[in-house]
Amino acid sequence: LESKNNYIIAFSSLSMAEEITPKAALLKLQEGYARYVSGERTYPMLDSTRREDTAKNGQFPFATIMGCSDSRVPIEHIFDVGIGDIFPIRVAGNVSDIDEIGSIEYGIEHLHTPIMVVLGHTGCGAVTAVVRGDHVTGSIPELVDNIIPTAEQAKEEMGSTFSAELVNEAVKLNVYQSIEDLFRGSEAAVELVEAGELEVIGGIYNLETGGIEWLGKHPQESSILRSIDSEEYVKDGNKFPTIGIVGSLLSPLLLLFAFLIFISKKTGIISLKTKGKLIVSALFMVIAIAVPELIGLSLMGDPEFHISVNYVSLLIKIPLISVFLFGIAVAGSISNGFREHLQKLKIKYGKV
Ligand SMILES: [Zn+2]
Repeated sequence: LESKNNYIIAFSSLSMAEEITPKAALLKLQEGYARYVSGERTYPMLDSTRREDTAKNGQFPFATIMGCSDSRVPIEHIFDVGIGDIFPIRVAGNVSDIDEIGSIEYGIEHLHTPIMVVLGHTGCGAVTAVVRGDHVTGSIPELVDNIIPTAEQAKEEMGSTFSAELVNEAVKLNVYQSIEDLFRGSEAAVELVEAGELEVIGGIYNLETGGIEWLGKHPQESSILRSIDSEEYVKDGNKFPTIGIVGSLLSPLLLLFAFLIFISKKTGIISLKTKGKLIVSALFMVIAIAVPELIGLSLMGDPEFHISVNYVSLLIKIPLISVFLFGIAVAGSISNGFREHLQKLKIKYGKV
């Protein structure tokens, strides 16, 4: 009777598109896992009713889980879940490359799972092969190349003597690497995490005991997300387009316009001597405008800060340009060239 009740409760909570928080989803996983590890699995959601229901009404999994293809890491069994409960991705070495990221995006973005787990495991063959430097052939080198940086990092930390501990350290770093690679390869993952709609966590499954060492979020998650945001900002600059366009285009255009007035013979408002001075002052203006931009670029690490720098740089540029234009007017009015020009105009067109 008890298991039947469990079934009904579980069935009702998993058959519809229902908002579930990342915390609640993790709790669900941990409950299923507790049943597995204590030998009290209920094998839920595996009968014909569930099959027909999900075929007819669609799937609403509550977790996306990427684990190794290793036959000893059966994800659905580990979490004691059934049909339509989780969206699993299995790939040797649980690496986040393009195809895996695409599958993960399907789970987190289209199926809206509030949690995504990268599940590594002890004694992983793919990680072991890379740490040991095994010769691999066929398409395997391309598969395991994601693991190379973590294997190197593990060796830096623990020395390059091959051992089970070294492999397990690499396994852990590889889980973190897969999380980072996911963020760097998936705008959707970054946006969902920043919106608080998704949590991405890691874990290591122990082949022998069936235990899971939960790693939680990537320890540098916030700095990774920040650096990705600023890269995006530099890349498409579309977060605050008006500030960007005004700051980057208007002031140089105004400067160019002013400069053309100075050097143009047609306007005839300045003598050669004045022209030289003005060229120097124009160069100074270019520097004055470039410096705030360069400060902004060097502080790109924090996009919000860059936005405020853009405001500041605009505030600096506008008065500088105004002073510059005012200088033209003064220089023009006092120059002989200007007077001559006026006289020429009078001769040409007569008195106005
Ligand atoms: Zn493995």
